[in-house]
Amino acid sequence: MKLQTAGIHHITAFASDPQANVDFYAGVLGLRLVKKTINFDAPDIYHLYFGNKAGAPGTIMTFFPSPGARRGRIGGGQVGMTTFVVPPGSLPFWEERLRKFDISTMKASRFGEQYLQFTDNEGMKLELVERAEGPASVWSFGGVPAGKAIKGFGGAVLYSAHSAATRQVLEAVLGMNKLGEDVGYIRYKAAGELGNVIDIPVSDVPWGAGGAGTVHHIAWRAKDYDEHLEWKRHVEQSGFGTTGVVDRQYFKALYFREEGGILFEIATDPPGFAVNEREDELGQELKLPSWYEPQRKAIEAGLLPIEVRVLEEDE
Ligand code: ZN
Repeated sequence: MKLQTAGIHHITAFASDPQANVDFYAGVLGLRLVKKTINFDAPDIYHLYFGNKAGAPGTIMTFFPSPGARRGRIGGGQVGMTTFVVPPGSLPFWEERLRKFDISTMKASRFGEQYLQFTDNEGMKLELVERAEGPASVWSFGGVPAGKAIKGFGGAVLYSAHSAATRQVLEAVLGMNKLGEDVGYIRYKAAGELGNVIDIPVSDVPWGAGGAGTVHHIAWRAKDYDEHLEWKRHVEQSGFGTTGVVDRQYFKALYFREEGGILFEIATDPPGFAVNEREDELGQELKLPSWYEPQRKAIEAGLLPIEVRVLEEDE
C-alpha cells in the first residue's frame, strides 16, 4: 500500500529568550506547554513543546530557545509560515486579541480562505485560519477560552529553494494530493484533519539563513513504529539519505533533507508526552532523558528559569 502521512506531527524552530518564548506561545496564543526538556543534541538549551491539552500530533510547535542567539533570515530551505487553525467565527476574536498585545496583523486570502498573519516576538511568520475540520480544543489559558482556542496546525507554507523538487517529494514520497493553484501557491492536502494543508510558492524562494525566528525542521506523521520502518525504507528508496531511526523519547524520528533545502523528519504518533508525566501535569517539571539524569544538577544550573504565566494584558 502507498504510504500517506496524516500531515504535520510537529514543527521545530529556533528562538533566543526562553521566557519570552513561553509568554508568546502560552501567554498570547494560549497553547499549553506540554513538555519542558532539553535539546538532546545540545543539553545546555531547552527544548520547549507547545500544543493542545494532550500535545497531540498535529498540534505541537517546539522551540530551541538559545539565549543571545542571532536572528535568522526567513527564506528558501525553510518552513516560511506556520499556520494555526482556529474554530469558524473566531478570527475577529484573534484580531482583537493580537491588537491588545500590540501585535500588528495583516489579512491575506488563498484558495478562498481568509488568513490573519502576524509575526511572533522573534519575527517568525505565523497565520491563523478558520476551519471546521479537526477536534475542538479543550484547553483554555489566560484570555483564550477553549471555544476560541487554536486547535492545532492548519498546515504550513513551505519556502523551497527548488519548488518543483519539493512538490515532487510531497506527492511521491509523503503521499499528499495536489488540490490546485492560487495566487502563486500550489496546495497539497494530507490525509489527517490537522496540519494537513501544505502550500508552496510555485516560484523558487531565495535561500534563507537559520537563526532565532526561523523554523529548523518540519516533522510528518507516521502512525506507529512499524509504519516508521516502512517510511525509512520508502524515503531511502526514493533516493534520500536519512539519519536512521533516532529515539526522541516522545516519538521516534528520522530526518532527511529534501532538494528544496527543507529539513524533513518522519515522527511516530506514539508514545506521546504522557509517557513520563500525567496528562494533567504535562510541562511542569524539567524532564531529561535517562542518559542525562546523572548531570541534572549541572544542566538545571545552566538553564534560565521559566514559568507559564498569565500576561498582564489578560489580568
Ligand atoms: Zn523534530
